[in-house]
Amino acid sequence: MQATEQAIRQVVQEVLAQLGNGGRTTNGTHRNGDWGVFQTVDDAVAAAGDGFKALSQRPVSDRVKIVQCIKQLCTAQAEELGRLELEETGIGRLDHKIQKLQIIELVPGVEFLKCDALSGDHGLTVTEYAPFGVIGKITPVTHSLPTLASNAISMIAGGNTLVCNPHPAGRLIACEGARRINRAIYEATGLENLVTIIENPTIETANEIFAHRGVRLICVTGGPFVARAAMASSKRAIVAGPGNPPVVVDETADIDNAARSIITGGAFDNNLLCIGEKEVFAVESIFDELLSAMPRHGGYQLNCQQIDQLTKLAFDPPKDGSDHHTLNRDLVGKDASVLAELIGVQVPAGTDLLYGETDESNPFVPEEQMMPFVPFVRCRNAMHGIELAKEYEHNFRHTSIIHTRDVRNMTTMGREMDTTLFVKNGPSSAGLGLGGEGYLSFSIATPTGEGVTSPLTFTRQRRCALVDDLRII
Ligand code: NAD
Repeated sequence: MQATEQAIRQVVQEVLAQLGNGGRTTNGTHRNGDWGVFQTVDDAVAAAGDGFKALSQRPVSDRVKIVQCIKQLCTAQAEELGRLELEETGIGRLDHKIQKLQIIELVPGVEFLKCDALSGDHGLTVTEYAPFGVIGKITPVTHSLPTLASNAISMIAGGNTLVCNPHPAGRLIACEGARRINRAIYEATGLENLVTIIENPTIETANEIFAHRGVRLICVTGGPFVARAAMASSKRAIVAGPGNPPVVVDETADIDNAARSIITGGAFDNNLLCIGEKEVFAVESIFDELLSAMPRHGGYQLNCQQIDQLTKLAFDPPKDGSDHHTLNRDLVGKDASVLAELIGVQVPAGTDLLYGETDESNPFVPEEQMMPFVPFVRCRNAMHGIELAKEYEHNFRHTSIIHTRDVRNMTTMGREMDTTLFVKNGPSSAGLGLGGEGYLSFSIATPTGEGVTSPLTFTRQRRCALVDDLRII
């Protein structure tokens, strides 16, 4: 009896302590959080707010340690985490899920935060890159943990903390990743709740994050609906939106390199990447040669009838007078062999991508299919290819690719498309530093214009002017 009373008293004292302290325990950790995983947006934002205050007291060298922790964790645990992500989401390929975590080490950190200085007759002025505070972020199902890890590096390197609303179909791996990241950061620095996440995310929790007073900035990575919702919110938004990257191949191109590149980019993680090659416009004179080069690199050509069958399975016809086909999400991210089997075709082992000739009215051309079938459309010449590429990129201004040795065609396409990434003579992934120059991020801010996000994207410029002193010349 006495023991029961004592236990009840202890529970009551704990509840009262929490109520009087914003739900926090005496050492500042949130009792209802589990290494950064929270049930409510209020709790997650409060914890990330405390995390931000604590991080702000620390030297920048601690941010360097934190970035290192996240990179090491992603490299060392890539196989296990990649497998968990594939098991949960059921889309993509295990080898590429693992690679997407291994390449997190290419995401830039604190070294990007350079200070700018001006010195002159009136003294010295310094511009520093300061954090925003708590950043609200949304992740896609196509790369749940890689996006969280990449954003965490960029945002924390910039001095911020974050609250994540993951895609519901990739929430378990995102939460597990957040737990591991927070634990590793705590062990290295004693800091807590730099990466917080909602365990059961919904559109409502996303909207709560968008509207929360404790959130200073939002960053969303996803398709058209979330991009529109973020741009309509009252907060400043960094929007990494959808793409439908076209490829133009002209008569001067290195055809074998074009075929290899289309397969490298278009087959990566079964064409889930927003930058991945989604449709090809090739000029008449090299069209057949390009089609015959594809099998040398892991392509398998479907005939017209097989393409019709796959199209019927992959898309529902337009409804209510619209011309928009609805994508069948059950086929998204499936292996090429699985798509082929659905239409009664056995493909050789090692087939990475299905492809074939269509006309521009086939829904695989205008829609972002996110599966390993790429349509090839014949065009009269390079200018015609560029016109079609512009039409079917839909002005997302995301990614476009050309294979050519003609610099005028490169220039014309670059200017016409006006895309955030424009790759010449390589796979789309070259635009993210994978085989091309540059750094990596899993959030490419397209409609809002920040481009391939980096720690600088998540900072505010602050100017500090000292009048008439500290000049040494
Ligand atoms: P999705 O749009 O279905 O979901 C993305 C996220 O937004 C999810 O967390 C989802 O729960 C949330 N969401 C959806 N509608 C919302 C709304 N109205 N309000 C608030 N939240 C909402 O996309 P997906 O299938 O997870 O990912 C694929 C899409 O993301 C593709 O269109 C791809 O091009 C794009 N993408 C873009 C980038 C980039 O860097 N630009 C990177 C990866 C993916």
